[in-house]
Amino acid sequence: MDTPSVDMPRSLATEAVHAGREDLAELGLHAPPLDLSTTYPSYDSRAEAARLDAFAATGEQLAGPPVYARLDNPTTARFEKALARLEGTESAVAFASGMAALTACLQARIAMGFRHVVAVRPLYGCSDHLLTAGLLGSEVTWVEPDGIAEAIRPDTGLVMVESPANPTLAELDLRAVARSCGAVPLLADNTFATPVLQRPAEQGARIVLHSATKYLGGHGDVLGGVVACDEEFARMLRRVRFTTGGVLHPLAGYLLLRGLATLPVRVRAASATAAELAGRLAADRRVSRVHYPRIGGAMVAFEVDGDPHEVIAGVRLITPAVSLGSVDTLIQHPASISHRIVAEGDRHSSGVSDRLLRMSVGLEDLEDLWRDLDGALDRATSATGGRDGQQTGPVAAADRG
Ligand SMILES: *Cc1c(COP(=O)(O)O)cnc(C)c1O
Repeated sequence: MDTPSVDMPRSLATEAVHAGREDLAELGLHAPPLDLSTTYPSYDSRAEAARLDAFAATGEQLAGPPVYARLDNPTTARFEKALARLEGTESAVAFASGMAALTACLQARIAMGFRHVVAVRPLYGCSDHLLTAGLLGSEVTWVEPDGIAEAIRPDTGLVMVESPANPTLAELDLRAVARSCGAVPLLADNTFATPVLQRPAEQGARIVLHSATKYLGGHGDVLGGVVACDEEFARMLRRVRFTTGGVLHPLAGYLLLRGLATLPVRVRAASATAAELAGRLAADRRVSRVHYPRIGGAMVAFEVDGDPHEVIAGVRLITPAVSLGSVDTLIQHPASISHRIVAEGDRHSSGVSDRLLRMSVGLEDLEDLWRDLDGALDRATSATGGRDGQQTGPVAAADRG
């Protein structure tokens, strides 16, 4: 009997549902199996020795049982395969969190003798801190995008960017950035855009990083990270993962694979609501500035005239919490939470003002969300004495820069 080819180019929506599940029908299964084994029995210790030798030498995973769960897990491997398909890369390697994934990338490059990183602000607060504090023995040079080429040294191992960036949603021309990296791998954190809106590997990024905790999981109940890259770098990452232990739990791998199936639908629906909210905020006199990316997305950042802490205290439907990418709408104050760990001067110079709020728009009804925001904005405005009658200038325009 002919098996239908799986190599035909398929759309992202189809890959999201089917990638990593190609063998299920043959296994007589519909839902992917969840393998919680920590160890794998084998009466053939010669074969296990050969598998371990191959892995230690090259990071290659030979066919056969995984030996031990820190090496490999079949459920997590399904998620990795699916994510690689969505990002258009050869491979993907999953980790316990986004920060564990970034740590592994840095360690892999440092182990190869490249300890210098060139990076563009803003980055997610902990990523900024990991580089600034040099906790892993790396050294960072912070630059503007047009200063990347000049900052590269013989020991530069990575150029790191986020676009749209957390929390300002500032965008970069990834193609131009990749060109200015020369032979140095560009690491693009694609957490905010997801492969639904942007595939950085197609624009020249060699390493695409996700906090899978956010949109990939999509329901606020899984912590994970993943790196999509070529097989050569993936092998290095697997060796780092094996020896440092930042593995993803198989249940998290299961939930992330399930999350991918609805990723395109979730991102498109939430983005439509976010674009409308961004427009309303931009036309609102209680709001001084709105940041919404050209490529769209479900994140909106805005600066209020009043006290941003009162907006956080004033929401009732929207959840006042850090993180993003969940089915429910979340709002947080970056200067207090997600970017608190970044020094105040560095925050301000990279556009993270003290009045900035970051909202992750979920799947609720648009009008319900707007009513909640409207009430919270009123509270923020009256808490600072009110601006009614004071506003003379034109309404703020959405900042698309
Ligand atoms: C949350 C986040 C991270 C860190 O991911 P964790 O899963 O929380 O470790 C990295 N980059 C970006 C852009 C993030 O939003």
